[in-house]
Amino acid sequence: MLKYIDSHSHYDDSAFDEDRDVLLPQLHENGVMNIITIGCSESSSKAAAALAEKYDFMYFAPGIHPEESNTVSDGYKELILSLCGHRKAVAVGEIGLDYHYEGYDKARQKELFVSQLEIAKRLDKPVIIHMRDATADTMEILRKYRPKGVVHCFSGSAETAEEVVGLGMYIGFTGALTFKNARKAIESAERIPLDRILVETDCPYMTPEPFRGKRCDSSMIAYTLTRLAEIKGITPEQAAEATAENTRRLFGLN
Ligand SMILES: [Zn+2]
Repeated sequence: MLKYIDSHSHYDDSAFDEDRDVLLPQLHENGVMNIITIGCSESSSKAAAALAEKYDFMYFAPGIHPEESNTVSDGYKELILSLCGHRKAVAVGEIGLDYHYEGYDKARQKELFVSQLEIAKRLDKPVIIHMRDATADTMEILRKYRPKGVVHCFSGSAETAEEVVGLGMYIGFTGALTFKNARKAIESAERIPLDRILVETDCPYMTPEPFRGKRCDSSMIAYTLTRLAEIKGITPEQAAEATAENTRRLFGLN
C-alpha cells in the first residue's frame, strides 16, 4: 500500500459536509499518513483548526486568501496570530496574490499578503503561497521577504520553479500534473530536485485524471505520485516516501 501525505487540502469545504467524518478515518486507514487542511478565510481557518483538533493525523494552516481581500475583517491579524498558537498549526496560509478575476484591488491584496508574511516571519513559521496570474508581483515580494515555505498548486514556468527553489522554498504539485495539457507543471517537475517537491490534492478541487469532474479527496494523490514517479524515473513508493519526507521537513511534522 502506498503511504503518503496530503500537504494541502480543504476539508472544511461544504463538498465534504455529508461524509467528512466517515471519509477522513477511511483515508487514514488506506495510506494517507497525514493531511494538512488549509484555511482561506477567517471562518475556514477556524474550521481547519477544529478539524486538526479532532483528528490526530491532521494538521492545519490558518491564512487569508487573496480573494478575501475585499471582505476580510479588521481583526484578521489577531485571529491568525492566535490560531498560530495552536499545537497543530504548522504554517501560515494560504496567502498570496490572485489577479485571475477582475474587481480586486492589487494594493489591497499585496497588503494582506505582506502582513501575513510578516506574522509568519515573526513566529518563525513557513508559509503556503497561492500565486495565480500574478507571478511577477508574487516573486518580487518573495525575493524581498525570503520566507520559508511552499508555492502550492504550481502552474508557473520551469524558470519560475527554479527561482522558487533557489529562494530555498518548495513547490507543491496537484492532480493537474496528470492532465494532458500540463506541459508547464511537468517541465517544472523535471527540472527541480525531488527533495524540493511536495504533493497535494487541493481537494475538493484539482481532481486528477481519470477522475476529472468528480470530487477530489486525498486518496487521489496516488495518481499524482504515479505521474511524478514517471517524470523522475523512480517508483511511486520512492516518490511517496520522498515527498512525505519533504513535507515533514518543511512543516516540522513528527
Ligand atoms: Zn488551496
